[in-house]
Amino acid sequence: MATRKTYRIAVIPGDGIGKETVPEGLRVLDAAARRFGFDLQLAHYDWSCETYRQTGRMMPEDGLDRLRDSDSIFLGAVGWPGVPDHISLWGLLIPIRRGFDQYVNLRPCRLMPGVRTPLAGRGPEDIDFYVVRENTEGEYSSVGGRMFEGTEREFVTQESVFTRQGVDRVLRYAFELAMTRPRRKVTSATKSNGITLTMPYWDERFAAMARNYPEVTTDQYHIDILCAHFVQHPDWFDVVVGSNLFGDILSDLGPAVAGSIGIAPSANINPERRFPSMFEPVHGSAPDIAGKGICNPIGQIWSGAMMLEHLGEKAAADAILGAIEALLAQGGPRTRDMGGQAATVDVGKALAEAVARAG
Ligand code: ATP
Ligand code: MG
Repeated sequence: MATRKTYRIAVIPGDGIGKETVPEGLRVLDAAARRFGFDLQLAHYDWSCETYRQTGRMMPEDGLDRLRDSDSIFLGAVGWPGVPDHISLWGLLIPIRRGFDQYVNLRPCRLMPGVRTPLAGRGPEDIDFYVVRENTEGEYSSVGGRMFEGTEREFVTQESVFTRQGVDRVLRYAFELAMTRPRRKVTSATKSNGITLTMPYWDERFAAMARNYPEVTTDQYHIDILCAHFVQHPDWFDVVVGSNLFGDILSDLGPAVAGSIGIAPSANINPERRFPSMFEPVHGSAPDIAGKGICNPIGQIWSGAMMLEHLGEKAAADAILGAIEALLAQGGPRTRDMGGQAATVDVGKALAEAVARAG
């Protein structure tokens, strides 16, 4: 008899609505584990801006070591008014992403049936692509500095760092992802007419990687026109890959064209699985609606589906996605951001029940 698999999940609800969406995510994950026959061993960490106020740190000094043995990290949201972004980001999110070499930031941008997109006349068949963002180097380096501060001659520089290893590994991920999709297409975001050293290098590595994947169609656009195409021709895209900065821009624009911020999921992935990957909704802690029980938990729940897929539980992941799709298409409970009246827990319970019944 095959042994039942157990996955160790580090759970960090974080701040604001993260404390409300994560329990619903866990509710649905628990239903999936029962239905599909695996176990989730949860370790809860209450690291947040509240922790920062009490201890002066977002997470303990040995925080990364505590997470290291988990199979995945399930995160809500971090950030709260009064705690500057550089503290919440650099005290928790960035150390985890960098410490665990989560060099791929992955965001599915998929218009679900029954969800309204801001793009007039577009339906679910037009918007179904992934944004793959390089998550560790590129434009977000700290190389540079300020000189002649406070004088007329003052100047500031900040350099981009593109390594062959860093560029190739994210490109390879994008091509491998495209190989799993029917359209098998990769689009590269670039700007080699203005940024004349690093971007042509990216283009060069992109062309070299494409030669390893003759079955994959490729194209490339400068980031400015690519943003316009996201809005005007979302149906052109399948897998879109970009550097840290360009990927960052596209990975907010993509979910925006796919409808509500409340349903968009994301993953920070270490594809080699040397370290745990981290799954979190695209939205933040939403202080304006936190504590009221009205936020949309679907982004969190969908992130949970991405986590199960990463862990190898594809059938369970598909069941969660199918449940989300059916709930949205068939007028199941909806939170206010989607025009409904339902509470956060109503949506979580409806999805957990659907997953428990999944065929
Ligand atoms: P961050 O900087 O952490 O990304 P933010 O302030 O930029 O946070 P969010 O926290 O995502 O952005 O919130 C933006 C707005 O979107 C919020 O004011 C909130 O009203 C709405 N919102 C975000 N997430 C949800 C959700 N899950 N359900 C309902 N509304 C949401
Ligand atoms: Mg924000």
